[in-house]
Amino acid sequence: MSIVPEERLVWNYNIEAGLGSKLPRKVLFWDETMRDGEQTPGVTFSPEEKLKIATVLSEMGVDIMDVGIPVVSREEARGVKLVANAGLDASILAACRAVRKDVEACIECDADEVSIFIACSDLHLKYKLKMTREQVLEAAVRECEYAKAHGVGVTFVTEDTFRADFEYVVKLYNAAIDAGATRVVLSDTIGYTTPTMMQWFIGRVRERFKPAQLSVHCHNDFGLAVANTLAALEAGVEVPHTCVNGLGERSGNASFEELVMALEVLYGYETGIEVSRIAEVSRLVEQLSGIPIAVNKAVVGYNSFSHESGIHADGVIKMTSTYEPMQPERIGRERRFIFGKHTGSTAVEDRLKKHGIPATPEQVKEVVGMIKDLAESRSKEEQAAFIHVYREREEKRRGVSDAEFWGIAKKAGLTPPPEFR
Ligand code: MN
Repeated sequence: MSIVPEERLVWNYNIEAGLGSKLPRKVLFWDETMRDGEQTPGVTFSPEEKLKIATVLSEMGVDIMDVGIPVVSREEARGVKLVANAGLDASILAACRAVRKDVEACIECDADEVSIFIACSDLHLKYKLKMTREQVLEAAVRECEYAKAHGVGVTFVTEDTFRADFEYVVKLYNAAIDAGATRVVLSDTIGYTTPTMMQWFIGRVRERFKPAQLSVHCHNDFGLAVANTLAALEAGVEVPHTCVNGLGERSGNASFEELVMALEVLYGYETGIEVSRIAEVSRLVEQLSGIPIAVNKAVVGYNSFSHESGIHADGVIKMTSTYEPMQPERIGRERRFIFGKHTGSTAVEDRLKKHGIPATPEQVKEVVGMIKDLAESRSKEEQAAFIHVYREREEKRRGVSDAEFWGIAKKAGLTPPPEFR
């Protein structure tokens, strides 16, 4: 098997034509796994688990980490404090609403930075916050000033930025920057952006915002989180938010491993991230979150480096880069050949040869035929049972169950519905 050590030897228009040359000199990775990632329904990380994840990510070269919202619970505050005092290289950040007790809770946890967030679209202001634009601006300024006065780095974040009035967004950000924010995060809270729209928006923002480090937080509701983040980086944003395994609310956030490898491979950009530990950190987060990585998930999915079809396996055996955009070894993974309905003779020959078993072309052909027959005749019972267990867990065992919910309500003196009494 021939392995091309560098994908860069393969033709790449991004690099040849300089299309990716607009990226910032240094991309600063902001991890959200322990905050937005933990907000994935049913997920909790203990303080010790957060420290485990944070340690690996910091060792890999992640620059900034949002490790939680201290006001959520005493355990959450303990987690933030534990990670903040662990002496990691990454800058540790705690998140809060633009509410005084929330900001105070962050400061008490010894975080290096606080990220103060507030919604900015009229939709959120009217129905969720029940605040006017002026009240939101006032709260943002007041809390940014308060945090700055307490000697912590201040990041200002707006939720639902891409469905808000642009002139108001400009006014709000410039006020927060005047009040002490040195970094600002435009959040596409519900994944409402496209790459072209993102570039247009960032271009306008750069003309109108006072000087501050620009950051984006993209959600994957339409499967565009990584594409939108790349578009933002090309437009001059320096700080992308990511989650390991693309965890996060609903369909998740921009995936760390996808963004890093897209930059490394498709743009030939040196991220400074220790990519050989991508598989390791992905497995760790899978274990601790309990959210299985989708089989067809990019980069870290089981299928990302699995080959069954005759044409593909034949190509990969002759030269891996024919059907692999990056080497699995580079991120700590291995390629696999799956034998099934679509298997061809090259893969069978290759497997026999690896074990030193000589075979005639006729014998190989016979083996291929029998593999196809077996694969096509296999019962689907086991497959159906697996899907059943998986669905049941997703639907009934995530978070607190119905029985547990009503048990808790009963302890609080409430009467559960008949079936839970
Ligand atoms: Mn989010």
